[in-house]
Amino acid sequence: MPLLPRVDEMYVDENQVSHALPGQDFGSRVELALAATNHLFNTRNSTRYVAQVLQGVNAVATKLDRTSQPFTGVGPAEMKERIGAVDLDRPLPDTAAALEELESVYLRDAIYFHDAKYAAHLNCPVVIPALVGEAILSAVNSSMDTWDQSAGATMIERRLIDWTAERRQLGAAADGVFTSGGSQSNLQALLIARNHAVAGLRQEPANAGLRLPALVEKLRVFTSADSHFSIRKSASMLGLGFDAVISVPCAADHKMDPAALAEAMAEAHDAGLVPMAVVATAGTTDFGAVDPLAELAALARAYGAWFHVDAAYGGGLMVSGRYRHLLDGTRLADSVTVDFHKTFFQPVSSSALLVRDGAMLQHVTYYADYLNPESAALAAIPNQVDKSIQTTRRFDALKLWLTLRIMGADAIGALFDEAIDLATRVGSVLAADDDFELAAAPQLSTLVFRYRPRVAGASPSAADSDGRLSEDASDIVNPAIRAAIFASGQAVVAGTKVAGRHYLKFTLLNAEATLEDISEIIELLRRTGAQLLANAGATGVSA
Ligand SMILES: *Cc1c(COP(=O)(O)O)cnc(C)c1O
Repeated sequence: MPLLPRVDEMYVDENQVSHALPGQDFGSRVELALAATNHLFNTRNSTRYVAQVLQGVNAVATKLDRTSQPFTGVGPAEMKERIGAVDLDRPLPDTAAALEELESVYLRDAIYFHDAKYAAHLNCPVVIPALVGEAILSAVNSSMDTWDQSAGATMIERRLIDWTAERRQLGAAADGVFTSGGSQSNLQALLIARNHAVAGLRQEPANAGLRLPALVEKLRVFTSADSHFSIRKSASMLGLGFDAVISVPCAADHKMDPAALAEAMAEAHDAGLVPMAVVATAGTTDFGAVDPLAELAALARAYGAWFHVDAAYGGGLMVSGRYRHLLDGTRLADSVTVDFHKTFFQPVSSSALLVRDGAMLQHVTYYADYLNPESAALAAIPNQVDKSIQTTRRFDALKLWLTLRIMGADAIGALFDEAIDLATRVGSVLAADDDFELAAAPQLSTLVFRYRPRVAGASPSAADSDGRLSEDASDIVNPAIRAAIFASGQAVVAGTKVAGRHYLKFTLLNAEATLEDISEIIELLRRTGAQLLANAGATGVSA
């Protein structure tokens, strides 16, 4: 293997590339085009490719070394101005200059998910093997729609789908496809469920000749009140209407209540409606609750409804050493959503939709003569576009492939286990802290809580009967704490609402974050809250 060129030689090489504006320094279009071809990823430019990508990687690594908090606190107006000031019609002399500029328009003020004080959303710290994959897949630029744009990439994706389906025990006929994220996976699942239900309705003589809009009129989707908003959004996009989704109440632990589902399905059935799908969640976004999958599956089956499990968050449990049993019930699913870009520590984007019966993917199969003619399918040419709602599609599977080949599945599971155990310990800390109220015991790696200290001696309007800050005041101070901390950049926490009340939320996914790190965030929340209450008191504004 030839040695890589020295970096200083590569820089010299890059500097020989002239940049100029059309019609300015360059005499002719020919010269401009010649210079432009120096930017193409090809054999002639491989030295430049390595040099420039390494400069980019180096800029990020340098940034990492200098980052000591998750955010700078910059506001949208300032970023808009800085980015607006860039003249996009006047390129910079070289990559180094562009990266230097990028420092001020992006890198300096980005949100950093590797930082132990980032504790807000499910977007995760990423593993290095996946970053190697990311660099490779975008350079080769395979597109997953057709075999003639992907070749081995298609087989790698298929092998990973099989691997995932096997882990989920979906059976020999299972299949699936990588998607851009959980929302897309859920949309495709519901699209398949809708078309499956419509195909059933078309068998009835009374429905002969009816078009799709008439047939979807009676379809209903059942999901818990705590399920992801992409379920309702999908129903809306699929022409069922937002209100075709029936919200099933949860028990106190935020898991869907099977008795309530049975009641809701019976009621719909009696009203002449058609239960199209039951969507269970394996790891709700706020509470990490895993719905009682086996009981919900049985009810779905009893009504002939599709059973979809949204394991966008909980998917990583399948490689967990300690908690994989939580996903046992997914073996009963007709389809499953898994987000690798959450609990498999993959960079955005990487998600999959799995189906128990691979033939169901035909509900999204359309043939185009110029891309994937039916003759290709008949000749068993594996065109993945036949299974996807996307056409041109990234080879995101490569990231997971390299992760499994370099780290192994157990190592990924160990990272998630660490986050879950940290959440358990933080839960105990918050439960024992009189200034905070935990909304529920942690189930995966999230904590929902609020700052609601005892306010001895405060005016009666500021305190509820339990002597704590009133719920109304708490509704003002908690979002204010979150905003103040975000603006300081010292930590990033999320917010949510429970029964109409404002709460704070930690989503923990960083296996290197310690209890001390999170305790420091808790102290920051407490100090900020106390300060806000003191200020409100001083100005006479009742919080
Ligand atoms: C994050 C999440 C989704 C959406 O996934 P994206 O990858 O953000 O599109 C869906 N369902 C649940 C339960 C989630 O937590």
